[in-house]
Amino acid sequence: MIIHKPRHPAVPPELPDYETARRTFTWPPATGVNIAWQAVDRHLGTPARDRVALRCIGRDDTLTELTYLDLHRRTARFANVLRALGVGRGERVFTLLGRVPELYVTVLGTLKNLSVLAPLFSAFGPEPIRERLHLGDGRVLVTTPALYARKIAPIRDALPGLKHVLVTGDGPAPEGTLPLAGLMAAASTAFTIPATQAEDMALLHFTSGTTGKPKGAVHVHGAVTAHLTTARYALDLRPGDVYWCTADPGWVTGMSYGVIAPLALGVTMVTDAGEFDARRWYRTLQEQHVTVWYTAPTALRMLMRHGKELAAGYDLSHLRFIASVGEPLNPEVVLWGQDALGLPVHDNWWQTETGAIMISNYASMDIKPGSMGRPMPGITAALLERGEDGRARVTDGRVTVVTEPGAEGELALRPGWPSMFRGYLGDPGRYAKAFAGGWYLSGDVARRDEDGYFWFVARADDVIKSAGHLIGPFEVESVLMEHPAVAEVGVIGTPDPVAGELVKAFVTLKPGYQPGEILRRDLVAFARTRLGAVAPKQIAFDQHLPHTRSGKVMRRLLKARELGLPEGDTSTLEDGGSR
Ligand code: ATP
Ligand code: MG
Repeated sequence: MIIHKPRHPAVPPELPDYETARRTFTWPPATGVNIAWQAVDRHLGTPARDRVALRCIGRDDTLTELTYLDLHRRTARFANVLRALGVGRGERVFTLLGRVPELYVTVLGTLKNLSVLAPLFSAFGPEPIRERLHLGDGRVLVTTPALYARKIAPIRDALPGLKHVLVTGDGPAPEGTLPLAGLMAAASTAFTIPATQAEDMALLHFTSGTTGKPKGAVHVHGAVTAHLTTARYALDLRPGDVYWCTADPGWVTGMSYGVIAPLALGVTMVTDAGEFDARRWYRTLQEQHVTVWYTAPTALRMLMRHGKELAAGYDLSHLRFIASVGEPLNPEVVLWGQDALGLPVHDNWWQTETGAIMISNYASMDIKPGSMGRPMPGITAALLERGEDGRARVTDGRVTVVTEPGAEGELALRPGWPSMFRGYLGDPGRYAKAFAGGWYLSGDVARRDEDGYFWFVARADDVIKSAGHLIGPFEVESVLMEHPAVAEVGVIGTPDPVAGELVKAFVTLKPGYQPGEILRRDLVAFARTRLGAVAPKQIAFDQHLPHTRSGKVMRRLLKARELGLPEGDTSTLEDGGSR
């Protein structure tokens, strides 16, 4: 099935078609690469100067607006605050904040000062915070008094390198911290960004921890050229857009496309400090006149759970483009978008390590629902033959590229794109192992069809081997998603003496459906007619699938629980595994 774009009003006339874009594309020169200069100061001499850069919706629905000029001044003040504290180039500034204006000011002010920004997800507990601050050698932390009291005070003594904790708010700063507002008020709005090289370290991002211990990926200022170009193609972002990225800035999506790219393109960015709530989200889309929306499969599946009727109660006519990332996007969800929101959902694929979107159903290209799309201009992707361990087979430093349409392989990228990570902090061995035979190895398994579209199969670790079949959980999950009772699914392999592994599905039901033997049998039969031998034989009902805080189903944890094994590192598990 293909969704042809020419029939769709979303086709941006100024974007070249896929083939032309790939043929004619070159990376822009890496000059003026300071990310904060691109995102803020560059706009001063342009009409964007007085445009609203940030429209922050508070938990209590209060709106705070900052123009590009406001942002310029505040980020200069913050850079001066760092300078006055003696915090310099390359030193790490961590944030532990919700989606509040201070977060954006801290991020961009830090980058102006050529210090390195490391965002933490504000719902982390003390131990994951301590681990990351320690690993990243945090010098400064910006947080709230309440988060400080609950999460930092208990670990402060274990972090001798953490020299300054700055807290937001107007109240008195807790002992051992400095008031951000006071320091900002005393600082100058004049700051000249030091000369910045493309290779200067800019950001430290911890991965989602879906497969195990979170890794700290190092990113550089030169990445901004990739943020800019990919946002044009894969998100169809244009000046004048009102853009909403729902990802938390604690994750790479919330930074690359929730701060850097939209501001560098001069759009108005909406942020929401509140939690997911279907009505709240629809209301935000409606009231803020959002034109471009970047979200995640789990959020879209939750909207689906509430049905098309809820969507119909809101005016979503300003929306022009919807994109999704983070997990496989079931074809069912793409089509639901078309039906209920009036627009298909554009899937795209990338990782913390890649820094920017690598594969996408981009704006000027037909969508194949269920496919991640095709490589971005400037990106070369391939599939590599896999060995026994499920990863690319490396023989004498060489790998074999799979070219046959429909065949599976480990998804690999030709290194050299500007936003590629430059290391796993403190783990050069692991970084070296991520490359072989001239490729970066993603750890994901995919297929490519005859039109060059890539289809996600599984994380290499998640592939199920059952009775001689290699099964990607995503395919099984997508089929079950077509059943009217199913809201979300996680599929794993459980050990079996005969088949090796059996496919087991954990199913979350939509409202109005009750778990029971009849429904279970119906689901098994439903899957069997569509999948044949690879259909799950076991189905369990689970209204609380474990998710990472970035919204992914944690199959690793489902499996550990199933087998009664230790759960491993669960620092990125969402509270109680429920949502
Ligand atoms: P960790 O590396 O710590 O296990 P993680 O891989 O989940 O965590 P991220 O870098 O946030 O951390 O996520 C990237 C991964 O998310 C990809 O490697 C892929 O498995 C999955 N992913 C992202 N986008 C898509 C997509 N469009 N379709 C399928 N999978 C996706
Ligand atoms: Mg990963």
